[in-house]
Amino acid sequence: MVMGDLVREVDVAVVGGGPGGYSAAFRCAELGLETVVIDAGKRLGGACLFEGCIPSKALLHVAAVLGEAERAKEFGVDFGEPRISLDPLRKWKSERVVGKLARGLASVARGKSVEVVGGRAVFEETRGLRVEGDEPQKIRFKHAIVATGSRPSPLPGVTLTSERLMDSTAALEVPDVPARLLVIGGGYIGLELGQVYAALGSEVTLVEMLDGLLPGVDRDLVQPLVRRCERTFKSIRLSTRVTGLRERPGGIEAGLGDEVATFDRVLVAVGRRPNSEALGLDATRVRVGDRGFVEIDARGRTADPHVWAVGDVTGEPMLAHRAMRQGKVTAEAIAGKPSAFDNVVVPAVVFTDPEVAWCGLTERQAEAAGRAVKVAKFQWAASGRAATLGRADGLTKLLVDPENGRVLGVGIVGPGAGELIAEGALAVENALLAEDLALTIHTHPTLSETLMEAAETLLQ
Ligand code: FAD
Ligand code: NAD
Repeated sequence: MVMGDLVREVDVAVVGGGPGGYSAAFRCAELGLETVVIDAGKRLGGACLFEGCIPSKALLHVAAVLGEAERAKEFGVDFGEPRISLDPLRKWKSERVVGKLARGLASVARGKSVEVVGGRAVFEETRGLRVEGDEPQKIRFKHAIVATGSRPSPLPGVTLTSERLMDSTAALEVPDVPARLLVIGGGYIGLELGQVYAALGSEVTLVEMLDGLLPGVDRDLVQPLVRRCERTFKSIRLSTRVTGLRERPGGIEAGLGDEVATFDRVLVAVGRRPNSEALGLDATRVRVGDRGFVEIDARGRTADPHVWAVGDVTGEPMLAHRAMRQGKVTAEAIAGKPSAFDNVVVPAVVFTDPEVAWCGLTERQAEAAGRAVKVAKFQWAASGRAATLGRADGLTKLLVDPENGRVLGVGIVGPGAGELIAEGALAVENALLAEDLALTIHTHPTLSETLMEAAETLLQ
């Protein structure tokens, strides 16, 4: 008998060890279910830990330090020209940040007796899968959870393969600081990594096919970020499509509308697509929609009663905190608890300088739906804390139901918006009134006061 013929039986087989998969596995184990995670990399963390949220935020921290040092000149502190050594920077990101968190997750898994099997899982039937790779085996399960995540979308129509052409995973390795970087896509990744490279010293050109950066986000929240990028990027080209990429001896030549320019590296950041192919899902009753997302209900159940799914593979927003919540809900549903993904908000943060964050209803959505809302805005120019930070460029706004004063949505732009939005999420999720925010004492001087101040404008 060879290893691949062994069949083991478990309560729950989780396919994919990212935030959706490990959250589900940990909760299943807590609820007494025998659980294994099969991950192609034989490690927990997924795209988020190894090629997403964490390494990008580590690099954005470096960019923020460089930005603060530059701003310090305004109040008479000059640190001189920064000297950046890429080896220690990469080592810090990969070992001290990512490596440490990966070891932490492995230790939690051991503590909860969740085994991680290395290899690619392929479903063979509705109750069984095989693992291909280092640890070949067959696993029979009572329940499987598909948590295979997503991967970068390629640029349509471009067949070029070149070391100079990077997706986000390659860019996070910081192979060098290219003198001229072309960023294709003005969404989350294009802006976050564009700012990282600009801070490290690249001349960044950003191309976005639509007529604004962060399409879909309210324009007043995006405007301060646009102003900052206009200062730190070489150029931003909206409503522009890249019409071809060619490798030349001196770099990659790109057609940008009517113009042709050459770049040392190109970062493609035009969205992500779900990992739902090559998984053997056709051997199950799972239904996959047109865009490749696995179809689920509010508990994570697919059309196959033995197969569940969570995270990026199930649709947008493709965010780690949504995947984690889904993972916990699905584990509880499998254990027979009355859990459902009935959250009102999935807050979103773009970790740029300034940060842009929002949750619940946006002004764009309200307009599109013809829904009447009261909008309360507080400009950070009037915030004492923002003044002490030298950051008057922020804005906090609340969208409130005119009938009953309920907070329906919150948008914030400014440094720390990613932390501040938690209060907005709490308010919307719990149907708080603007009055509740106004009457809660917020510490002074803090940026959190801007939520209270925005709410107060509605009580006048
Ligand atoms: P993933 O994290 O993608 O994990 C899926 C796992 O499944 C992977 O380990 C993969 O190897 C494994 N796998 C796939 N197929 C198989 C198979 N057949 N067999 C075995 N294993 C398999 N989100 C945020 O909320 N905040 C952020 O700041 C943020 N920043 C990001 C920055 C970047 C550059 C990127 C790319 C993404 C970022 N995201 C962020 C998105 C976030 O990473 C994803 O939403 C999150 O990782 C999704 O989790 P998941 O569990 O669904 O899947
Ligand atoms: P995105 O959807 O955020 O942005 C893609 C951008 O590329 C859009 O503005 C789109 O209009 C543009 N675009 C598409 N095709 C184009 C083309 N041919 N030429 C020029 N522009 C084009 O996608 P992303 O930035 O690749 O990020 C993928 C996903 O990863 C995000 O949607 C998000 O779910 C997740 N993410 C989250 C964070 C965070 O939470 N801070 C950070 C990074 C990534």
